[in-house]
Amino acid sequence: MSTTHLSRIHYTKPSITDLEVRYATDAATNGWGARCYEYIGRFEELFRSHLEVKHTIATSSCTGALHMGLAALGIGPGDEVILADTNWIATAAPIVYLGASPVFVDILPDSWCLDPDQVKAAISSRTKAIIAVHLYGNLCEMDRLLQIGKERGIPVVEDAAEAIGAAYHGRKAGSLGRFGVFSFHGTKTLTTGEGGMFVTNDKDLYESVLTLSNHGRSRTQTRQFWPDVVGFKYKMSNIQAAIGCGQMERIEELTARKREILGYYREQLLPLRGLAMNTEPEGTVNGAWMPTVVFDVETGVTREKLLSAFAEEDADARVFFPPLSSLDCFDNVTSNPLAREIPNRGINLPSFHDMSDDEQHRVVNVVRRCLA
Ligand SMILES: *Cc1c(COP(=O)(O)O)cnc(C)c1O
Repeated sequence: MSTTHLSRIHYTKPSITDLEVRYATDAATNGWGARCYEYIGRFEELFRSHLEVKHTIATSSCTGALHMGLAALGIGPGDEVILADTNWIATAAPIVYLGASPVFVDILPDSWCLDPDQVKAAISSRTKAIIAVHLYGNLCEMDRLLQIGKERGIPVVEDAAEAIGAAYHGRKAGSLGRFGVFSFHGTKTLTTGEGGMFVTNDKDLYESVLTLSNHGRSRTQTRQFWPDVVGFKYKMSNIQAAIGCGQMERIEELTARKREILGYYREQLLPLRGLAMNTEPEGTVNGAWMPTVVFDVETGVTREKLLSAFAEEDADARVFFPPLSSLDCFDNVTSNPLAREIPNRGINLPSFHDMSDDEQHRVVNVVRRCLA
């Protein structure tokens, strides 16, 4: 390799230390038989105390956790669930699994999260839940959403897959709604390879999801092989949970580092003018999962220009989520102008724990060149 060749900058990469390897090795060596749930129990306990919630259930994915949570709320055919048009499909898919319909609303111009006014306008007699997705670590306007939910008797749930480390007026993201779900996919701040978590303070909902998560077997059922209802199989393995335990012991370090990188980008890029980045309103903490830049229309900087500039630097850049309603599998919604238009001039920047100063510098310079 020539000395001038630049190394590729990945957009994300997990941080796995000897601690995670040691726990995973222990789980693979000893975590069987009577000990096959030890790390799972510990991981749930660590997550419970970190998030300051009463109940947690580790799952094989965030999608699975959301599927079970929505099922436990009784959502089914004919029902509607409101969420932002700007989203990953994982938030919408469980609604479809249950035979219900996603209703896509527009986003706010600054946080890129669902607009409470649009939520209010989209409520019908069939609305059974509102899903607040904290996009890229930015926070939804939870006070307003919870107020709307309370007035209309509709549960507000949080998809906090991108929001570990984020907090809203002293409470951790994911702990404010009727329930919250997290993802530990390899691209997320905390990872177990694949994995998720269901969290709630609602005892009855917890019991329902616990039963559903165990193939419909209630924990009070004494007969063997005797499910009470048809449930799901979305369990996390002990080996994955072992990695999760190591990550939880490092959670402050993992989230602080993400915030440090976002902080650097903000400090370097915001003075350039003509662009916006992840917001952090008074009283909130941005989880900084995915540093994101959205250029003003007047700059003429487009997604295509950004993608080619990043490719030239051998750096990954992720496109801003296209609206779900523009996908072939959903009904087209043309009335969400911001969700439709912002992706044309936005991009996610690389951010991972072991990113060097030089790599961050290179990313900043690509953005600078695009504006020049
Ligand atoms: C990553 C992600 C998911 C999916 O998580 P899985 O663990 O892959 O199911 C769901 N919602 C959002 C907002 C995500 O970013």
